[in-house]
Amino acid sequence: MLTSIAEAGSRVRPAYRNFRVEVARVERVSPTFTNITFTGDDLADFGTAGLDQRVKVVLPLEANGFAAFPDGEDWYTAWRELPGELRNPFRTYTVRAVRPEQREVDIVFAGHGDGGPASAWAGRARPGDEIVLIGPDEFGPGRAVGIDWRPGEVDTLLLAGDETAVPAICAILESLPADAAGAAFLEVPTDGDRMSVRAPAGVEVRWLARGGAHDAESRSHGELLAPAVRDWVVRHLADLGVTRAGGDEASAALAEAERADLPDTPLWDVPAGQSLDGACYAWLAGEASVITGLRRFLVREAGLDRRQVAFMGYWRRGRAELE
Ligand SMILES: Cc1cc2nc3c(=O)[nH]c(=O)nc-3n(C[C@H](O)[C@H](O)[C@H](O)COP(=O)(O)OP(=O)(O)OC[C@H]3O[C@@H](n4cnc5c(N)ncnc54)[C@H](O)[C@@H]3O)c2cc1C
Repeated sequence: MLTSIAEAGSRVRPAYRNFRVEVARVERVSPTFTNITFTGDDLADFGTAGLDQRVKVVLPLEANGFAAFPDGEDWYTAWRELPGELRNPFRTYTVRAVRPEQREVDIVFAGHGDGGPASAWAGRARPGDEIVLIGPDEFGPGRAVGIDWRPGEVDTLLLAGDETAVPAICAILESLPADAAGAAFLEVPTDGDRMSVRAPAGVEVRWLARGGAHDAESRSHGELLAPAVRDWVVRHLADLGVTRAGGDEASAALAEAERADLPDTPLWDVPAGQSLDGACYAWLAGEASVITGLRRFLVREAGLDRRQVAFMGYWRRGRAELE
């Protein structure tokens, strides 16, 4: 049912909730990326804050679709109480675009074959397929819940990620003011995965392809990203507001944070959004070990303050996403 703004405002609404949707269109945009457009009347109320807004994509069970999947704000507790065979798998993705007036949401899936339920599902998706999105309610109390891009008022921006972060980096680049400055590094599996993205003239956008246009990948994740970011940082240290090389204080703080990363918790540290005037803000997302290494370099070697670096392990080699 379509909900009017007046009706929506008069009720208490959750920040995040279930949206039952179906596939409207599937566009295989490159060898790796598939843009899937979801539609549903309920999407008129889907949050439009954009940037790196994350959502959960809940996938159907072969036997009974979504028959057992709980609705309501406390869906996660109810889901955990279900027997294993009735628990729908779900994975985390980024909203690439929202068009409330058309009741549409786009998500761009980076395919990695049948190695995981989300990639396998996206590889076979057809118009009419049903899924559940768990995402922000535009009229709820926390429409920016799930957004980690919080640069504050800084002079220089640095974005770096692999193919899983491409949707977020593209959405962030498109949102930047015309006078923004910095660089974005996007490492993708093949040459054919480069996309055109709108970015301010002062932000250098560099695509790094691990393989040729049609070749299988010839390099591993991070092999191009890590040296490219390091080179850029070393060349721009003066612009990054770094006044000293990574000192003992930075190293000790980072070592403590790394010790706190328990083996089964996601590798994730996002500054609360303090404004570090005049400095640099770095946003890093992708395979966890690559991203951890980049943060270590930025803080320990380049001397950035930890509060300048948002670092997000979007996936871990050899491990399914924890649910
Ligand atoms: C906040 C956030 C936003 C994200 N946004 C996006 C997005 O917009 N688009 C997107 O494509 N991904 C995105 N991801 C990453 C995505 O959630 C993971 O890649 C997820 O593991 C995919 O689920 P799966 O079911 O395909 O594989 P899983 O069942 O989770 O994993 C199965 C196996 O595949 C491996 N694997 C997982 N992802 C990849 C990959 N990309 N390449 C190679 N091997 C992989 C795992 O290491 C594991 O061995 C995001 C993650 C987070 C945390």
